[in-house]
Amino acid sequence: MKNFIYIIAFLFSFQVSAQENLDLSYYLPENVTYNQDISTPQEVLGYVPGTWHVTHDLLINYMRTLADESPRISIENRGTTYEGRPLLLLTITSEENQKKLEEIRKNHLELTLPGSGQINTAEMPIVVYQGFSIHGNEASGSNAALLAAYHLAAGQGAKIENLLENTVILFDPSLNPDGLQRFAYWANIHKSENLNPDPQDREFDEVWPGGRTNHYWFDMNRDWLPVQLPESRARIATFHKWQPNILTDHHEMGSNSTFFFQPGIPERTHPLTPQINQDLTKEIGTYHAAALDKIGSFYYTEENYDDFYYGKGSTFPDINGGIGILFEQGSSRGHVQETDNGLLTFPFTIRNQFTTALSTLEAAQNMRSKILDFQRNFYNNARNSAGKGAYIFGNSKDPNSAYHLAEILKRQQVEVHELVEDLQADGKSYKKGTAYVIPKNQRQHRLVEAMFEKRTKFADSLFYDISAWSFPYAFNLDFNDNVALKSAGNKIDSLHKPEMAPVSKSEYGYLMEWHNYYAPKALNMILKEDLRAQVAMQPFEAAGKMYDYGTILIPIQNQELNSTELFELVTKISKEANIEFNAVTTGLTKGISLGSNEFRALKPQKVAMIVGEGITPYDAGEIWHLFDQRYEMLLTKLDTRNLGRANLNKYTDIILPNSWGNALGKTEIDNLKDWVRNGGTLIGYKNAANFFKQNDFMKLEFLENDVKPKNVTFEERRDFRGAQGIGGAIFRAKQDRSHPVNFGYVNNEIPLFRDTTIFVKADSTSYNNPIQYTANPLISGYISDPNLKLIANTVPFKKVSMGRGNVILFTDNTNFRAFWYGTNKLLMNAIFFGDEM
Ligand SMILES: [Zn+2]
Repeated sequence: MKNFIYIIAFLFSFQVSAQENLDLSYYLPENVTYNQDISTPQEVLGYVPGTWHVTHDLLINYMRTLADESPRISIENRGTTYEGRPLLLLTITSEENQKKLEEIRKNHLELTLPGSGQINTAEMPIVVYQGFSIHGNEASGSNAALLAAYHLAAGQGAKIENLLENTVILFDPSLNPDGLQRFAYWANIHKSENLNPDPQDREFDEVWPGGRTNHYWFDMNRDWLPVQLPESRARIATFHKWQPNILTDHHEMGSNSTFFFQPGIPERTHPLTPQINQDLTKEIGTYHAAALDKIGSFYYTEENYDDFYYGKGSTFPDINGGIGILFEQGSSRGHVQETDNGLLTFPFTIRNQFTTALSTLEAAQNMRSKILDFQRNFYNNARNSAGKGAYIFGNSKDPNSAYHLAEILKRQQVEVHELVEDLQADGKSYKKGTAYVIPKNQRQHRLVEAMFEKRTKFADSLFYDISAWSFPYAFNLDFNDNVALKSAGNKIDSLHKPEMAPVSKSEYGYLMEWHNYYAPKALNMILKEDLRAQVAMQPFEAAGKMYDYGTILIPIQNQELNSTELFELVTKISKEANIEFNAVTTGLTKGISLGSNEFRALKPQKVAMIVGEGITPYDAGEIWHLFDQRYEMLLTKLDTRNLGRANLNKYTDIILPNSWGNALGKTEIDNLKDWVRNGGTLIGYKNAANFFKQNDFMKLEFLENDVKPKNVTFEERRDFRGAQGIGGAIFRAKQDRSHPVNFGYVNNEIPLFRDTTIFVKADSTSYNNPIQYTANPLISGYISDPNLKLIANTVPFKKVSMGRGNVILFTDNTNFRAFWYGTNKLLMNAIFFGDEM
């Protein structure tokens, strides 16, 4: 009763005067005493958590203070974000366990290895990974981490001591430091002394791109499988180092929602996840329910969210013998906001996150043996169900792409082998040194299966995220899922970049084939030095070697550099871009001669991209990342606000990423049109199709899905609509390799990732359809039957001339989440060869 009065008093006082009565006792459990020698959060931050949004620098100050003061905590820095912020990990356990941490870790990993049957799990600590706010603007997680860390460092008594003896906690207070910092700044600069809960206040409406994403605007909670970002690399290394039994992922959702904990929608669990994983998740959920009941908080479970895509934090552990748990708290965004459930305060959201962080630990402790046994059985069953042969993938013309897939596998602790000798399988040639072999019978075989499989049958037709991600297709590699194990040569312990032959000096010219993933990087390095380079519009043979469409010729004659300087530059580029240059001594070839008009002169490209309000940050960020991190090319980010008055004549190409609504007004559109007519190349993605059509940049005919609901109830209406979307699936298209958009591709078909339902009718002139979906294009993922009929023979690419310039459309995302290496070159071809199309 006393407690009840306290809460009433608190709520009342809140409405009267901001948060001046906010006190740690609001958050912390009753009947726990705290060690006075450990600093409270307010002693380091200067305020009680919830008063302000914690910035990342203050957060890590506090974590370092706790690590200094408490023998229960060890701390490590695992690297830095793109903006240079440390990626800290606290390991929290009893003082006794801290002394033998390495021994505990090794014993724990034994559970996943052959012979684990002997291990007595009753004597082992359980390992729990607690991660907070991977979406930086879902800040209650990281703010609750202040309290959770304090509680674990300073709490006294048998209960907490018992917990720490039996648990190793890997505590990751901020999964997205750059996003958290960005958001904290926004929320804090708009806070009023007298808190204003009006949802229309600027406090609740961040400017583009918002704090959800990391530096390059990636949703980091999709990168647990592809591991392309530095934050993920550090985290995945910790994951495999420890193989945690439970991993929690604290998020926020819409402000009118309450609190969600997993399991999600049962039918939407990935079929490779064992049922017992979901049963244990549900049992853990009873601890969250009890803890939230106790503080009077409302919640829901088994709705909205799912466990399908393994690249999310709450699903990734499920294919690694652990249990991933998603938490979603209704967001206050700023400090307090009016919602359907009354005033939602920031401290209230923090308290729910803190409470479920503790209920997770309570469940872990009480279910310890059961969950450890589950992990052991998961790996035992995996071993017993493993197939006998091996997977192989490679690309003899582009060893760098194959290498980057091998790199992901190594990050995921997958055993990767060299190819023992050249191999023919299913009409494809695999060449030693450019292909990799993955034996099926290995510890991580379930993860490998999840990364490589194709799937076109599903229990449900709705997905929270993508429905397909098969990696050999993403990298557009030759792939076979059943070759003999004897193809596997040496196991690769440390992976090295493929080796390129050194450049020999030429007095006549150099040839560089366009197949290599880094060919655009190399070409850009040449052109930005104002050197002459040309592209071959046809294949030819020189000195006994076949050169494909798109081969780059660098003549020695008439250059700014003499032949020695040019040789030195080409050698440097060869090393930095990991690509081969072949010296030639004669212009006489089989096929087009090196002096032919079919070698077209290339110009340096100056590229800009439209960003800002109305543009999808993910799609724009992927392109920025591609230019900056992969190809080291400058990309000017033009804000939609300034586009009408910007001087566009500085650019050869402008990219319009996916957008929503009317991102551009009449002035901006007129400015763009003038620029195109004067010779610019405008490259649009996805919804740009509608923009191009509506604003007369391009004539397009769309095929529309007009399926009408029949026997669909009111309750089923959302599922019906959702089933006609494409959340993300992989489709096959034919390629006309003689068209410059396809230069550098060796096969006549390409797998494309698509997450839109924009179906563009093919042109009646066949050579205007250089990329065209096949009659039955689905490779992997979900698409409804009516949509599958529509997509057949449509085109994901279109190019038209406008004045002296070009307008180019891609309806599919060729840069998806930084791991779709296979289609990155389509964009680069549009940029470097747009004038030749
Ligand atoms: Zn989130």
